[in-house]
Amino acid sequence: IKPVVALIGRPNVGKSTIFNQMTKTRQALVADLSGLTRDRQYGDATYNNKSFVVIDTGGIGEADDGRGGIDDYMSAQSHTAIHEADIIVFVVDARAGMIGADAEIGKMLHTLGKPVYLVANKIDGVHDAAPAEFYALGLGEPYPMTASHGRGIANLLDDLTEDM
Ligand code: GDP
Ligand code: MG
Repeated sequence: IKPVVALIGRPNVGKSTIFNQMTKTRQALVADLSGLTRDRQYGDATYNNKSFVVIDTGGIGEADDGRGGIDDYMSAQSHTAIHEADIIVFVVDARAGMIGADAEIGKMLHTLGKPVYLVANKIDGVHDAAPAEFYALGLGEPYPMTASHGRGIANLLDDLTEDM
């Protein structure tokens, strides 16, 4: 049985771009429109002779008042993907910086007891130290990435497949 890896995070952080890089397809819809990937998308990936399934999700949105708790704004699709996954890749946007929703998602992921790989995407054009603030999520050192240029994917996949 192949391990299942779910890409989780806010809309527009680069999840579908990473999905395309991992599965080497243009299957996932990439766009600036937030939340465009409404349904879960499944793809097959092979790296370092390890095969796994990748799930792309539409993204976990913002809480309207920041008090509702994560269940109020996490889509059923993201919920299902998290449940199906053996491994979570939590993608954040280094250009946008850490916002409240990232902290909420991080807290929720802590409760799962599943391995989480934190990715700080969009490091192109930001200060080298920009990913460091995400260390506060308590999910370890973020993997720096520029998914749109394919940079940083191999480093993540090396560690991810080594642990499979
Ligand atoms: P998703 O909503 O999380 O699936 O995000 P997408 O993969 O659709 O990407 C949202 C936008 O960010 C698209 O315009 C991508 O081309 C862009 N994008 C993705 N990765 C990067 C990156 O590393 N750097 C920059 N500058 N833009 C990126
Ligand atoms: Mg998407």
